[in-house]
Amino acid sequence: MTRPQLVTTQAELKDATAGLLAGASGRPSVGLVLTMGALHAGHAALVRAAREASDVVVVSIFVNPLQFGEAEDLDRYPRTLEADLDLLAECGADVVFAPSVEEVYPNGAPGIRITAGDLGAKFEGASRPGHFDGALTVVAKLLHLGLPVGAADYRTFFGQKDAQQLVLVKRMVADLNFPVQVVGVPIVRDDDGLALSSRNRFLSEAERDAALVLSRSLEYLRRQADRHEALDVDGALAMIDSVPLVQLDYLEVVDPNTLEPLAFNCRETPFTGEALALVAAKVGPVRLIDNVQLGY
Ligand code: AMP
Repeated sequence: MTRPQLVTTQAELKDATAGLLAGASGRPSVGLVLTMGALHAGHAALVRAAREASDVVVVSIFVNPLQFGEAEDLDRYPRTLEADLDLLAECGADVVFAPSVEEVYPNGAPGIRITAGDLGAKFEGASRPGHFDGALTVVAKLLHLGLPVGAADYRTFFGQKDAQQLVLVKRMVADLNFPVQVVGVPIVRDDDGLALSSRNRFLSEAERDAALVLSRSLEYLRRQADRHEALDVDGALAMIDSVPLVQLDYLEVVDPNTLEPLAFNCRETPFTGEALALVAAKVGPVRLIDNVQLGY
């Protein structure tokens, strides 16, 4: 298994991509996957989706200080480059771009940034002020840095696990005419239902057990949606409430494209159409998010 080419500067990234594209026939395609490292099977699914759709697969590994709040876990965020490179070799990545903070922000923190607007102020944005401005700003930069020179299809792959981020990235790309197609990839879970996350490693055994209530409560709603029943959101809330180690932030059923409330009262009306159930909670010291598509 050959390891991907590891590059750390913008210039090396351009050269590496251009070199690989030169060997591709027809109209070539580039797939870009953005990560913060500490990779697991969820990231691998994105890279495999990119591999299937692209001639050249680029994966970035960058823990972006701009999207962490003061009291958040930037310093504690896991960094596992060697293991990441092994996993990326298995998934067939061609190039790994792992820049330093100085390489991405040579003039320090940028004065000009993307603002995520109202959509970035709710759910995750409500408990992490500025998070999505920081996240979208680095996504914008990395999408530009990965942009292939010359005619090529350009796609970027994001996990549905971070549903709000996916909606915001799609919105940014549409609103600001980025020349890239955004592809959403389904959530990868452990066998017991827990959505994979780089932060799961910080859960104790008891906390991990407790965290399972999040995916269970979402499944509970999904089954009702599948049967076109009214959604027992109070029942799902009570399930979470009954687990002392879990401190709920939000559980809401929303429109999948806008994250606005549904046009009908899904707690009283038989469920039709499509929706997203979003949940976030603190389990011990770890903030976890999860979601499920309803009616798909
Ligand atoms: P992160 O490294 O946590 O910033 O995540 C990088 C990308 O991987 C994002 O697009 C995430 O949505 C995606 N991702 C993380 N966990 C999962 C998962 N369990 N299933 C699918 N995609 C995921």
